[in-house]
Amino acid sequence: MDKISIIIPCYNEEDSIPYLKEELCYIMSKFDQVCFEVIMVDNCSEDRSLDIMQEIHAVDNRFQYISLSRNFGKDSSMYAGLKASTGDYVTVMDADLQDPPELLMDMYRVLKYECYDCAAAYRMNRNGEPWLRSVLADLFYKFMRIISDADMVNGARDFRLMTRQMVNAVLSLEESQRFTKGIFAWVGFRTKWIPFENRERIAGSTKLPMKNAFSYAIRGIIAFSTVPLVLTSIIGVLICIVALAFTLYVLVQQLILKNAVPGYPSLMCIMLFGFGIMFMVLGIIGQYIAQIYLEIKHRPKYIVRESSIRELCDVDKKL
Ligand code: UDP
Ligand code: MG
Repeated sequence: MDKISIIIPCYNEEDSIPYLKEELCYIMSKFDQVCFEVIMVDNCSEDRSLDIMQEIHAVDNRFQYISLSRNFGKDSSMYAGLKASTGDYVTVMDADLQDPPELLMDMYRVLKYECYDCAAAYRMNRNGEPWLRSVLADLFYKFMRIISDADMVNGARDFRLMTRQMVNAVLSLEESQRFTKGIFAWVGFRTKWIPFENRERIAGSTKLPMKNAFSYAIRGIIAFSTVPLVLTSIIGVLICIVALAFTLYVLVQQLILKNAVPGYPSLMCIMLFGFGIMFMVLGIIGQYIAQIYLEIKHRPKYIVRESSIRELCDVDKKL
């Protein structure tokens, strides 16, 4: 009998979890000859999420939970869940039902009977999302496709069903600054894309405000492309050429035409422009160095505080 693991990162999802549980129980009952484990990864929520997970586990032991010692972010908690999973097939989905669990049926069929290693969901539209967020997200994916090797599909969700082989490949990328969408794309494997209509979250509010979405995008670019570093060098060379041309122009005015005007304004412009570019370039380089710094520390990607999965508690006690 096949086993499917469902990984759900949660942060302050007390309002969504009861709906999610209902929906999952319904979907799981539709499968024949398949058993399930649901691993809810609590990112140290400040509401009753963990209590609810414990209550659900007490009555239905297909539902397990891992509670982390703080909010390590969605990506690290997905890693924690993937690492703890034991299924032949593994899926990751959000707690707010924006990833339609009913797609699992199709995804399983694709992996079982067609020649694919992964069935992944993407949103056909972003209805209901603030327009600025949609526009920026669209630009981000276009930019990512140009500058990185990892082929990221616009509207792609983390929601996908993967074979154990693909999950092991994802786990083998051990970077601590994780950008999971990029990692999924980078490991490759035969992926079938399944479209769906965007949905609004069932309850509660987004846990990924614009500010976090922005730093998430920067992390993605830096993790999967060195093109910005190349761009900074090109910009540097271009500025040198402009500066050289301008110097020649000033020299000609001074030496031949003898009509040089006192050059204070133009000098200031160039200096400010030059400084601006320099700081921009330093900033970009700094971001890469920061990533290297964080990676070489080899900090754990997450720390388990408590879990219904016994082995995880034992490992944690040894830490
Ligand atoms: N999430 C998390 N930690 C965070 C932010 C989000 O575990 O710091 C979880 C959240 O509980 C949800 C999923 O990640 O299950 C997606 O978050 P959300 O729905 O808020 O993001 P959005 O859909 O608005 O991009
Ligand atoms: Mg959501």
